Amino acid sequence: MRQIFRPAIAMMNSLSYPAKFGLVWLLSLLAISFVIVNLYASLARQINQGELELEGIGLAGPISHAIQLIQKHRGLSQGLAGGEESMGATLATVSTDAQAAYRHMAALLPDNLKESADWKSIEVQKNAVFNKGLGWSDHQSFVEHTRLVSQLLMFKVAVSGEYVLPLDPQIDTSYLIDAAINRLPMALEHLGQIRAHGTSSLAQGRINEVRRVALRSLTAQLTDELKFIRADIERARTHNPALQEPLLVIDRDVTESVQRVIQLVEWSILSGRLDASADQFFGLATAVIDQSYSHLHGLLLPMIEQLLKERIAQAKRTLSITIGIVALLFILVIYFSIGAYYATTENIAILARTAKAVANGHIHARARLSSRDELRQVGDSFNEMAEGIITLLAARVEDERRHHSVIESALDAMVQFNGKGAIQGWNPQAAKLFGWSREEALGQPIHELIMPERYRQAHLDCIEHFLLTGDESQVRRRLEVAGLHRDGHEFPVELSVSVIENGGGHLFSAFIRDITDKKASEDRIWWQANYDELTGLPNRRMFYNRLEQELKKADRAHLMVAVLFVDLDRFKEVNDTLGHRIGDALLVKAAQRIQSCVRDTDTVARLGGDEFVVILDRVENIPGVERVATQILKRMAEVFMLEKEAVYISASIGITLYPQDATDIEDLMKDADQAMYLAKSSGRNRLSYFTPELQKTAQDRLRMLTDLRGALAGDQFKIHYQPIVELATGCIWKAEALIRWHHPEHGLISPAHFIPLAEETGLIVQIGDWVFREATRQVKRWQMEHGWDIQVSINKSPIQFKNELSGSEIWLNHLRDLGLDEHCVAIEITEGLLLDQEPLVASRLQAFRNAGVQIAIDDFGTGYSSLSYLKKFDFDYLKIDRSFTRNLKPDSSDMGLCEAIIVMAHKLGMKVIAEGVETEMQRTLLINAGCDYAQGYLFSKPLPADEFAQLVPCCCCVNGAKLPCVTEEAETA
Ligand code: C2E
Ligand code: MG
Ligand code: MG
Repeated sequence: MRQIFRPAIAMMNSLSYPAKFGLVWLLSLLAISFVIVNLYASLARQINQGELELEGIGLAGPISHAIQLIQKHRGLSQGLAGGEESMGATLATVSTDAQAAYRHMAALLPDNLKESADWKSIEVQKNAVFNKGLGWSDHQSFVEHTRLVSQLLMFKVAVSGEYVLPLDPQIDTSYLIDAAINRLPMALEHLGQIRAHGTSSLAQGRINEVRRVALRSLTAQLTDELKFIRADIERARTHNPALQEPLLVIDRDVTESVQRVIQLVEWSILSGRLDASADQFFGLATAVIDQSYSHLHGLLLPMIEQLLKERIAQAKRTLSITIGIVALLFILVIYFSIGAYYATTENIAILARTAKAVANGHIHARARLSSRDELRQVGDSFNEMAEGIITLLAARVEDERRHHSVIESALDAMVQFNGKGAIQGWNPQAAKLFGWSREEALGQPIHELIMPERYRQAHLDCIEHFLLTGDESQVRRRLEVAGLHRDGHEFPVELSVSVIENGGGHLFSAFIRDITDKKASEDRIWWQANYDELTGLPNRRMFYNRLEQELKKADRAHLMVAVLFVDLDRFKEVNDTLGHRIGDALLVKAAQRIQSCVRDTDTVARLGGDEFVVILDRVENIPGVERVATQILKRMAEVFMLEKEAVYISASIGITLYPQDATDIEDLMKDADQAMYLAKSSGRNRLSYFTPELQKTAQDRLRMLTDLRGALAGDQFKIHYQPIVELATGCIWKAEALIRWHHPEHGLISPAHFIPLAEETGLIVQIGDWVFREATRQVKRWQMEHGWDIQVSINKSPIQFKNELSGSEIWLNHLRDLGLDEHCVAIEITEGLLLDQEPLVASRLQAFRNAGVQIAIDDFGTGYSSLSYLKKFDFDYLKIDRSFTRNLKPDSSDMGLCEAIIVMAHKLGMKVIAEGVETEMQRTLLINAGCDYAQGYLFSKPLPADEFAQLVPCCCCVNGAKLPCVTEEAETA
């Protein structure tokens, strides 16, 4: 539907209200004018026609009157010609009247009719009738009169046509006109002719046949005309009941009197009786004709005239009423349109005024419209909107209040500033943080007040960039910068900025948090992550970073970098014997000493424990590196005075060079480690370079490790047993189980090579378990086969003691399963284990002791021994390391040491076993020193179990125990 009105809507939307209303008025005016013009034209046509008809009716009367008198003249002329001399006087009068009536009629005729041919021939005929009529015969007189009457009747019809009477639109009027103009005159003419013929016949006293025929014809025609007249009257009455009365009079008078004349003609003249006098007959006929004419002129024509006049008046009235109503309507249209215009524009003006008032802050202004139209709805909606704005404003005020209180109570400083940098907001926290009060800060440029100078330009650039481009990315960043306090000191702050549009400009809010504590804790965390707490040196992580940097720098400068892997010798022993505090102090001092040997640009780091590493950058030649390393060795060998304790240690240094030895960090470190390992294994307190041989050793080690993993499953381990001989008797009370690895490629590998590897990788736990099971099974077998009551010593590495999975319970259970006594097994531990502080180690040792398993201290004298530890546990045996036995000579220092150890051990309730006894002299010296047992190649090398059994063909029996013993043959073998 709306589609149809689209052009109208578009047009109306493009016009102002005055133009809209003007357009509507114009269109209404056009429509009304069009209606008025058409209506006026139609009514004017009606009026004009009516008036024309009225003129025609005005002429019809005189013409009829003239015809009436000429007819009368004809009748009198016929009577006179028939012999009625008495009619002569009347004829003269009538002639005068007829001519006067004719002249009157002629005077009324308009010029155009007078010019017509019809009228001219009427003039000729009239002159002939009135001038020559008296000389004519009665027949000629009758004919000439009748022609004149006929011409006048025809003229009358022509006149009625000229004045459009036959076209009258009203039904009643048109019937009356037909009766008055056509029918009645024609009937009266017939009656007139009858009068003439009748008067003549009666005057002559005879009637010829011609006249009889004429009279019959005329009476018949008259009768017909009477029917038409009655029909016209009847119809006019039907259509206009108001005409009922006068029309009934005309009908009655005319038809009834004409009927009487017709009856008289038939009865007296046509019957041939001719008994009525001509005068009488003329008088009767004339009376009827006159009465009829008098009805025509007195009633009928005035009636028509009246009807026409009424019609004209009616049309005129209609015209003026219509014009009046239309004019009134038009005035009303204009009136109400103007009213609508004012109502609309005034309401719009009210709305505009109210909107402006609200916009100017008078938020309680309301549009009060008196209308009840759509504008009222707009006004109501506007008022609702204003209410909504008030609610919103109230909420906003509340928000702002809350916002303000949040800002005021915020833990962070909040500083608001405009696009020019002028401070607009400054909360208490800001005052506290920067030292400026709110009053002092407001209006000041933010960058000058709270930013250190180096940040100011960047800040201004950033704000300018935002204001120019609208790009917020630079503004809305969380930054860590420095803040400037009133007293000039700087402190770290975290800054985030938000920006809002504010009254056409921008308002920036900077949230500033003092992160001094956070920074300090971050720094602390960073330091802890990158530095060694104890020595303050870079830790492993920092070291790797530095090394990476140094390698890059060296690449650029085409120089070398040296990595020195420094490991303190025997540090663990210092730590274990003198305590951690001294150990720590030693590490700190050692770190300082190492640092004192290098340049500032070099890096000294602690990798952990007693491992230090030095990066020497921009190395130009190897002697320079060696100088530094030698200096470190020298400084390390100097005495360390730690809490009054004089501590001596040394260091082993492994050196690798970048890029000669390796090109990546991992390889460099590995190589340095190996070089250090070489230095250590070469006797400590020395430096060693990474060499290709070292690399090979390392690779071999790696390969061996791989092979070692498969050795247990591949059944490549065997146990050899070395007898431990009681020196006094030569009885073999004991044997030490020593593992052997039969490598499929490399043949027999010494435990001295693979046990450290197994310890490093933890494989020693499984291997140790296997040795225990295998050795105890062997003991069982010897018991079963030979009845030997022999004890097997099993080496147990410290790693095994510390391992969760190798508790004493498992081994003891195993012994029980085999049905072996606990004393069948002794466990050899090294001195180092005693130094271990872990409670687990001590409890496990104790568990074995409690169960009856004997414990031997192996390799005594090689470690950083502390005699005090020997008191801690009840050890059963002390094995003097073969390094002492080897050099045993009478009166040698080793001899003295051995004797001292033996005495001390005996004092502590321990038996002594001397290891590595190879010569008879050693045996004798040891026997003399009171040593209990000996073990060594002098008696036997470690042997496979079956060979061991053959080795000892005899056995001795001590206290019921059946034992193998060393015989002369065995010794020589
Ligand atoms: P250890 O416990 O001190 O064993 C004695 C070592 O001295 C053995 O070396 C033995 O063959 C050797 N030996 C004995 N008498 C003489 C002699 O008269 N002259 C010389 N020069 N050497 C002699 P082996 O078998 O090579 O074992 C080396 C080390 O391997 C052992 O030293 C022990 O600490 C370790 N080991 C051997 N088997 C095992 C084992 O099953 N478990 C653990 N944890 N370590 C074992
Ligand atoms: Mg041993
Ligand atoms: Mg040993």
